Amino acid sequence: MHKNWIHTALLTLALAPMSGMAADYPTKDKTITLIVPFAAGGPTDRVARDLAEAMRKTFGASVVVENAAGGPGGLIGAAKAAKSVPDGHTLLVHHIAMGIFPSLVRNLPFKVESDFEYLGMINDVPMTLIGKPQLPASNYKELITWVQANKGKINLANAGLASASHLCGMLWQASIQVDMTTVPYKGTAPAMTDLIGGQVDLMCDQTTNTTTQIEGKKVKAFGVTTAKRLNTPALKDLPTLDESGLKNFQVTIWHGLYGPRGMPADVQTKINTALKQALKDPDFIKKQEGLGAVVVSDKRVEPAEHKAFVVAEIAKWTPVIKAAGVYAD
Ligand code: ASP
Repeated sequence: MHKNWIHTALLTLALAPMSGMAADYPTKDKTITLIVPFAAGGPTDRVARDLAEAMRKTFGASVVVENAAGGPGGLIGAAKAAKSVPDGHTLLVHHIAMGIFPSLVRNLPFKVESDFEYLGMINDVPMTLIGKPQLPASNYKELITWVQANKGKINLANAGLASASHLCGMLWQASIQVDMTTVPYKGTAPAMTDLIGGQVDLMCDQTTNTTTQIEGKKVKAFGVTTAKRLNTPALKDLPTLDESGLKNFQVTIWHGLYGPRGMPADVQTKINTALKQALKDPDFIKKQEGLGAVVVSDKRVEPAEHKAFVVAEIAKWTPVIKAAGVYAD
């Protein structure tokens, strides 16, 4: 009896999760929440919802999206994720703002490099310069003529400071040396509604939010921000901005998956494995590529490479943001 007791105790110890491990993740009765720091229906929401669906299949657990919009570059949602319980049940899907935060936001409430666990990159997304349907221009050349004739009166929508649409719009204004009035929204989904309605004039936004609207002729499209034209059927005839005369104007937005610092190592591995499966899921690839995005298939799916990429992006964007003289408190 005594011997049996010792045997059972030893066996229990051997099977017990080591410190920092969570053997039963994901817990079937607990939801995994993907925080999206922008409004529902926009590009970050789009990729997060597609990812949630793919991860649901792998995990057999409930994976939901929570939109926590607000603050420069989706700061509110990112801060919420950084402060959440590091048990793998609250994650963050975020974009290029992670590479811009340190140079653009003073008094940042978290450290991009050390307050998050990096779980792998998800996609790269080209951008498109689009305009309200009433604009009297059908191509980039005509757009520039209209811009020159309407200086001081033009509105450019974006998802707020440090958003992808802000970055693209800022670079475009600098390239053509025309200042426009920017109109910030909580995401480019509500901005798109106003653009379609003609309340704002222009926007530079990711193809994952613009393809359907361009295809449905709800907005005018003036160019794509890639070196070559896209293969996506709905966008393949859209010229690059480069070929329209805006030399080397290339902006690509990327999304990655993060969790709060201190998540158990095995939970991080399980999430990264589920992410890698999602990135190979034909449904996920079809949905993303149909909207012009490129699903990550290179080494940036590895957490260490994801982090190295973000660190390099911070170094790349810091001089650009400093030169532009923009900042947020
Ligand atoms: N990612 C934002 C959104 O989902 C848009 C942006 O950053 O421009 O609305």
